[in-house]
Amino acid sequence: MSKIPLNRPSLVGNEMNYILDAVQRGQLSGDGYYTQRCNALIEELTQSSKALVTHSCTAALEMAAILCNLEPGDEVILPSFTFVSTANAIVLRGAVPVFVDIDPSTLNIDPACVEDAVTERTRAIFAVHYASFPADMDALAKIAGAHDLILVEDAAQALGSTYKGRPAGSLGDLAAFSFHETKNVISGEGGALTVNKPSLMERAEIIREKGTNRSRFIRGEVDKYTWVDIGSSYLPGELISSFLYAQLEVETDITKRRLSLFDRYYEAFTPLAENGLLRLPVVPPHTTGNGHMFYLLMEDAETRNELSSYMRENGVIAPFHYIPLHSAPAGRKFSRAHGDLAVTDKISDTLIRLPMFVDLGADIEMVIDHVTDFFSQRPASRTFT
Ligand SMILES: *Cc1c(COP(=O)(O)O)cnc(C)c1O
Repeated sequence: MSKIPLNRPSLVGNEMNYILDAVQRGQLSGDGYYTQRCNALIEELTQSSKALVTHSCTAALEMAAILCNLEPGDEVILPSFTFVSTANAIVLRGAVPVFVDIDPSTLNIDPACVEDAVTERTRAIFAVHYASFPADMDALAKIAGAHDLILVEDAAQALGSTYKGRPAGSLGDLAAFSFHETKNVISGEGGALTVNKPSLMERAEIIREKGTNRSRFIRGEVDKYTWVDIGSSYLPGELISSFLYAQLEVETDITKRRLSLFDRYYEAFTPLAENGLLRLPVVPPHTTGNGHMFYLLMEDAETRNELSSYMRENGVIAPFHYIPLHSAPAGRKFSRAHGDLAVTDKISDTLIRLPMFVDLGADIEMVIDHVTDFFSQRPASRTFT
């Protein structure tokens, strides 16, 4: 029996040629030819004012937390339904992640819960674009404006997605992207920070270059470089950037192929959804996604677990997603939950992800058949509410 994984990375363009070219250019450390080309192309794709590639989205989120000037005791509002790196970046500054609930239809941070959680210690909002669909950024920007907060997009999954016609990465003061091999555009490990607030741009370069003004030196703006601020080594080497550049060049094609898989799943499961057996993803108003993920919601945890096991028995990897961070051991130690987060818990218990990658091809029909068979073997009385 052939196995269908959740994700499978693949070459999509000139990766091998560009790696060889990078070696022949004679610079393997960061901020060379390909790094600069990646930065420029990410600025174009995201319509952001400045892009800086990093070695991961985790690194970009850490840079964002430093740029927020977080101090011990400061608070940052974010969803509990996210990857650990969104919260770790805050905890590493000694600040407190304040988890709020998500909207049950979009699975993105609920602006009403954010508004309710603001205190005099709140410094920033970290909004996650779950499954690539942008959060309600206008509502969040309004809250951020009213309370003088920095608005950060965790756009790890959202390269190429849009909100009211504007691309993810241009919507907040700062945005973090991931090029991890499980994302759409990949370089194994990789990421980028986009910066839209002019006052943060120079400091972002400094933090990424170990707290030095080396970027200004490279541009010939100063004749030697020195230690001017805190920072770390957040940049990738040229081998990673050369691979990444080849992927970024064909981002439109990658997105198109993934969106057609998304549409096929959506169409195939519509009858099951109409019969109340499952719930399909809801595309939030005024947004477009990039086909990063296809999830289904089941009526309860038991059905979800049974479907996941059934798929595994049939050679298809269809796993759960986030364990809510507020209930994780480190979450209980370092963070605070605002409200009971009942939606987060329910979604975490009932969500299942299906295989999604550029080369899934005709295997998608096998995945669809197994899900359909699972439901046809169950008593018809069970309905999703
Ligand atoms: C993948 C992901 C990250 C982490 O990305 P890395 O590049 O692996 O550091 C952070 N946040 C979200 C929402 C993600 O999906």
